[in-house]
Amino acid sequence: MDIAKYEGKQMNIISEISKYSDAMKESIIDKLRKIAEKGAMTCPFCDEKLILRAGDIRGVHFAHIRGKTCLESSAYDTYSNQVKRESQKHSVIKELIYDELKTQEKIKPDLKVEYGYKEKAKENWKYYPDIYLNKNGKEYAVSIVTNVYKIGDENVVKVIEKRNKYFTNKGLEIVWFIEDRELADDLSNRVIHLWEAERNLTVKTNADTQWDQFLLNLIMNYSAYDLFEVLNYHKRSSLSIDVRSLYYVHSVGEEITFSVYRLILDEAKAPFRAFAVNEGYKMNISKALLIQDAIQLSDHEHDSKDKELFRNKFISNLKDFELKRQQEEDKETKYVPYQDYINIQREQATEQIKNEVEYWVSNDFDVVEHKYKLERFTINSGEAKNLFFFLKRYRNDLNDYGFNVLMFKKLARQALGAISEAPTREWLVEIDEL
Ligand SMILES: [Zn+2]
Repeated sequence: MDIAKYEGKQMNIISEISKYSDAMKESIIDKLRKIAEKGAMTCPFCDEKLILRAGDIRGVHFAHIRGKTCLESSAYDTYSNQVKRESQKHSVIKELIYDELKTQEKIKPDLKVEYGYKEKAKENWKYYPDIYLNKNGKEYAVSIVTNVYKIGDENVVKVIEKRNKYFTNKGLEIVWFIEDRELADDLSNRVIHLWEAERNLTVKTNADTQWDQFLLNLIMNYSAYDLFEVLNYHKRSSLSIDVRSLYYVHSVGEEITFSVYRLILDEAKAPFRAFAVNEGYKMNISKALLIQDAIQLSDHEHDSKDKELFRNKFISNLKDFELKRQQEEDKETKYVPYQDYINIQREQATEQIKNEVEYWVSNDFDVVEHKYKLERFTINSGEAKNLFFFLKRYRNDLNDYGFNVLMFKKLARQALGAISEAPTREWLVEIDEL
């Protein structure tokens, strides 16, 4: 153990001797050993006498006298070993969180806050959370992870997995805080790229369950669409609606802030990634750690705003998505909507008539000659066609010749009784229907 009670204060032997130069260390250790032998240094947990050992294997440390080791001190040792990999910020962040929670403990009679190793020492746990919480019988394991940049390390992944399993089996809800952030988010693609360990550091809170409800409602209201596809997320596996959160903690001096990221984990295979439910937002310590029925860990107002944003984004994307899908379908089937088809036909017909009219004007169409041929049933198909377009275009000018459309319709009907040539008949029918 690296700590002892000395003259009413706690002494950490490692930081104590680090105050001295290498040349002086040996004599300082020697002096402290003599002080301990006289019974001046005691166990902070059980008050038994401690001795100072400076063995090669374990370095300088305090120990109970043979056979008298207490449970708390061995829990402390287990815990110290466990946090060896953490950065110096780890204990700073832990103490700030502990102090904030302890303040609440004073005014909340059904809240208990304790260091994990102290609370569970008697049960001789294999791992301890940094902080243990008990709110009205519900227990929480709060832990801080630092050195996140090393988190790709397979050992860390296993360690976190083991602790998650261990605390869950003990019936504790797990809360992880990650120091700073190695966050690699790409919000244009709504993706958060993760370390494998970060998958295991996600937490499920009440706010996440409310997000599940919100998303399920949205999916139900727009059941013809794939939520992830509409939001341009390139999913690699079929995702179920299970929103989880990642909490990053950032410390500057005595101040820490939390940021919360909500996400849905994608395939459990490298490279690890998740669908970004929100863009992430910051919270101060008192809001994040406020305990009501559970640890708050969320800003209700901010989450409401995020839900509004999510819905708006989804609906605006839906319009683009629908348009794109329509265009793709059109491309595939060469499908033209019926009204467009009619318009195109009409345009082509108008163009054709215009050409025909120009033809007659330049060629001096002789309506009298054509009427004569029609009466005698000697009109051919080309002449019948020209006559049709002339009548259609210049029906108002027929008076100049003493003719009218009815006259031509009657003649066409009579000709139909005498002419058997199909192409001619077709134009005669057109004239009859003018
Ligand atoms: Zn002890």
